[in-house]
Amino acid sequence: MTKRIFRSILAVSVAVLLGCLVLIVGVLHGYFQSRVMAELESRTAYVAHGVEMDGMRYLTEGLPAGSRVTWVDGQGNVLFDNWESAGELENHAQRQEIRQALETGRGSAARYSDTLAQKTLYYAVRLSDGTVVRVSDTQYSVWVLVLQAMQPVAFVMLLALLLALWLAGRVSRQLVQPINAIDLSAPDADSTYEELAPLLRKIRSQNRQIQRQMLDLKRSREEFTAITENMSEGFLVIDQQTRVLTYNSSALRLLYTNAPAQEGESIYALNRESGFRHCVEGALAGRRTEQLLEKDDSCRQVIASPVERDGTVAGAVVVILDVTEKEQREQLRREFTANVSHELKTPLTSILGTAEIMAGGLVKPADIPHFAGNIHREAQRLIGLVNDIIKLSRLDEGGNVGAWETVDLYSQAQAISGQLQQAAEKKNVTMELRGGPAMVRGVPQIVEEILYNLWDNAIAYNRPGGSVTVTVTDTPQGAQVTVADTGIGIAPEARERVFERFYRVDKSHSAGGTGLGLSIVKHGAAYLGASVTLESEMGKGSTFTVTFPPVSGADTPS
Ligand code: ADP
Repeated sequence: MTKRIFRSILAVSVAVLLGCLVLIVGVLHGYFQSRVMAELESRTAYVAHGVEMDGMRYLTEGLPAGSRVTWVDGQGNVLFDNWESAGELENHAQRQEIRQALETGRGSAARYSDTLAQKTLYYAVRLSDGTVVRVSDTQYSVWVLVLQAMQPVAFVMLLALLLALWLAGRVSRQLVQPINAIDLSAPDADSTYEELAPLLRKIRSQNRQIQRQMLDLKRSREEFTAITENMSEGFLVIDQQTRVLTYNSSALRLLYTNAPAQEGESIYALNRESGFRHCVEGALAGRRTEQLLEKDDSCRQVIASPVERDGTVAGAVVVILDVTEKEQREQLRREFTANVSHELKTPLTSILGTAEIMAGGLVKPADIPHFAGNIHREAQRLIGLVNDIIKLSRLDEGGNVGAWETVDLYSQAQAISGQLQQAAEKKNVTMELRGGPAMVRGVPQIVEEILYNLWDNAIAYNRPGGSVTVTVTDTPQGAQVTVADTGIGIAPEARERVFERFYRVDKSHSAGGTGLGLSIVKHGAAYLGASVTLESEMGKGSTFTVTFPPVSGADTPS
């Protein structure tokens, strides 16, 4: 802006200077011409008087030197010329000054020479006898005068130009300085040129508007961050060039990575798995793409969707979900279904086979009780299995498992001891119940199921001549029941797994077992808020301990 003002002022100054020069030269020239003409007029009057008096004699003898004098008759024929021979000169009747003089008595004219360098002024007077005397004088033209005065004129012009330069610079700076001094973040409309006041007021109101919008933007951003940061799902937004624009910390956690090292880093720097890349590429190609990523024991689902703007894919939103639990549950469900089918099939095949033999009449009457016994035993096993499955699924669903009551562990143990007496004798295992009454809050059927299964296992996996010791104690931390046997023991690597559904350490020893007993114990205990621990030594025996919550703290769930 300063430059522009500077240039404008300079141009105006130079134009004014040149204008002035032309004007002055013009005026001066006009002035001098009128002076010369006045002098010419008086000289012509003087010569005319002389010719009037003495005629040709005056012209040839008494004529003052310097000017050119021409005498013509009334028809314009040259009678005398002191510069040239009169006979050689053409008729002057059409010359402007002669014509005027012949018509009005006096006439004047100015004519340029061929080169324009000189200008000749003529003045003519008609004498009483009708002839005309003309005096002329030569003057340099204005351009010659200017050229002659070129040096001083150029010097003056240069000085004037320098002055104009300095003034233009100074004035333009002075003009622009207040504009430069305006603080655009808080413009004061009264502090500078009043012509700028509307503009500054507009800037001020726009500043306020921008500030409001910035605040809104900041708030929305904070809200967005608060939402995404509290999401357990990973969330990333990328542009068409795969540069990460936004992400939350869950995304980093689920991709097992750190924050992008630098702004605009590619999403592929966060995870290089081919499945992940495939997903991102799919989204950027305009398709919603899903992919499961498995790593160690964890499983993540990546969903990438394209973000479209004006009909073209401008980027993608990538959501990452931790589906480890879901996948594990799904896996368990698949295994459970397969196991159930298998476990149900075995006794059913046996029943079917036996029934077919009997139906074919191939069994001797004496053997019928044996075959019927087989069918009965397999059917029992089937019923046991189905019952266990029903119990487990009820515990899973958490409904229809019975009402909560206060239960005495000791009396429950006594009842179970009676039920298992026969089995123990059959196995040649002795049983002992120790301790005393210990009250717990729970569902009696579940408490019984826990005790029965532990006790039953302690007999089943015992050695002949072994023993089972069940101890019921009431501690301030809650009632406790321990079932200790002197059986085969459980290997360390199997101690976790024995609580899994259908898991049996050694199927040959699991006579008639379904592999669901300890699962029911674990789920039942969890349902009642109790904990189960296992200690075991191979070949020496195992001890299962169930600790119930203290009665005061264990309220019945509604
Ligand atoms: P099962 O119906 O086969 O007894 P459980 O779930 O009750 O099923 O037990 C799972 C497996 O754990 C059993 O097959 C057995 O191998 C092992 N087990 C359970 N209790 C004991 C124990 N007291 N001593 C040794 N092994 C045991």
